[in-house]
Amino acid sequence: MRVLVVEDEVRLAENIARGLREASGYAVDVVHDGEEALTHCSTGSYDLIVLDLMLPKFTGEEVLRSLRSARDITPVMILTAVSDIARVIKLLDVGADDYMTKPFDLGELVARCRALIRRSKGTGEPILRFGSVELHTSEHVVLRGGKPVELSPTEYRILEYLIHRPRIVVSKRELLEHLYDFTWEHHSNVIEAHMSNLRRKLRSAPGDNDVLETLRGRGYRLAQP
Ligand code: CA
Repeated sequence: MRVLVVEDEVRLAENIARGLREASGYAVDVVHDGEEALTHCSTGSYDLIVLDLMLPKFTGEEVLRSLRSARDITPVMILTAVSDIARVIKLLDVGADDYMTKPFDLGELVARCRALIRRSKGTGEPILRFGSVELHTSEHVVLRGGKPVELSPTEYRILEYLIHRPRIVVSKRELLEHLYDFTWEHHSNVIEAHMSNLRRKLRSAPGDNDVLETLRGRGYRLAQP
């Protein structure tokens, strides 16, 4: 999953980014004003936007209105410096998905962000299942047929992305854009190695059907649980 953090207080932005990377393993990009936020959002690569309200160039509210009027439905978590309930209610009506009032607990922000992403992918459940594969999103634990599967952080993130899209073919480029931050192009030649490790680890016994399929020239998908 990839998150855009839009916050002009540089230290706070870095803390939020670090929290999301460390606790949830998300790829995180950080920008410091509303104009950069809109440029980045136009790539469509984000699974969540954390959006401060008081920003240079365009305010958070203007960014949110612009996204929603362009039918961009990426979930948005608003950060607000004052607990101004009337304003926040207005923003929820405009299409914000949740909000937190500063100062906030970083752990709570991270947990709420995870919940928003899960809901936006069509499931509010913290445990995602595909056939005999189970992914526990809070503990980062993966089971196949009830047995733990040890995955590297990158393998876990690949599986997490794919399990939200069962039976849908995900291109290598889409996967790279959602797994990595600005630097995704540098990772393009290692993704196949991660894929082959993940495929091997998900086989619970020799001769099992592979859960992870590679479709030449098209991408990857979870199929045949
Ligand atoms: Ca601000």
